[in-house]
Amino acid sequence: YKRISTSLPYLGQFALVTGGTRGIGRAIVEKLFAGGASVALTYNSNDALATEVVNACLASAEKGVEQKAIALKVDVSSSAEATACIDQVIAAFGRVDILVNNAGVTKDGLLMRMSESDWDLVLDTNLKGVFHVTKAVIRPMMSQKRGKIINITSVVGLSGNPGQANYCASKAGVIGFTKSVAKEVASRGITVNCVAPGYIETDMTGKLTATQKEALMGLIPLKRGGTPADIANAVGFLASKEADYITGQTLIVDGGMTM
Ligand code: NDP
Repeated sequence: YKRISTSLPYLGQFALVTGGTRGIGRAIVEKLFAGGASVALTYNSNDALATEVVNACLASAEKGVEQKAIALKVDVSSSAEATACIDQVIAAFGRVDILVNNAGVTKDGLLMRMSESDWDLVLDTNLKGVFHVTKAVIRPMMSQKRGKIINITSVVGLSGNPGQANYCASKAGVIGFTKSVAKEVASRGITVNCVAPGYIETDMTGKLTATQKEALMGLIPLKRGGTPADIANAVGFLASKEADYITGQTLIVDGGMTM
């Protein structure tokens, strides 16, 4: 081992994080930026919040370290918007070294009552969105012969969950997609992995009732809900040089809930 600086592991690198304004995505943006990367974050609706995240990043930049942060309004379920987004990021940064597909939604309900539009919304955002953004980024990444793609799936993509047939199908799909693309691009020095969070306290899980949260807590050996930073730390590892020999994997970060 050479003695190297580990405080800025992504220095000089360019990252794109989808859904980077809130919750897990925001923590990932902060982690990568704190590690020296320039970061483009996308969001779907909240312009003011996106500006706030960008300004907070830029204000936190260390003196002497040149970093950029930009926000782009993109609905990842739209092929045209995803492609235009990557074009803009390439125009601003010149390259994308790290892509984190984090944007995701839930629209829960039992299958008997699940409408086609609830199915489509979740699959189009969580799975097709990953397809659109990854497809748009893969060509430039392949020509630079280097890249890290990290997809945020979920433990329920492995286990299933009543009331979430659409969400679980989308997250299981992301795992299959990850393994396939990992095999396609490995020869170009690109790794593709998933992080599967368990129960993380964000706006998404804020919708759960107190009883549901209590039941979940009883299933977690480490006896606490996860934080967005717990997930960002795992993403940060997979985005780092230290994870160069890991591809096609799903790293579960759930306090032991599903072991
Ligand atoms: P939040 O609901 O807190 O944030 C979701 C983010 O995704 C927001 O930035 C939102 O932007 C963005 N977004 C939503 N729809 C779209 C879209 N169509 N196009 C672009 N961006 C979009 O979610 P979490 O932080 O909780 O979740 C992040 C990821 O982690 C998701 O993929 C989720 O499925 C996964 N996950 C979460 C778990 C948890 O316990 N919280 C557990 C397992 C997985 P805007 O604010 O502008 O709408």
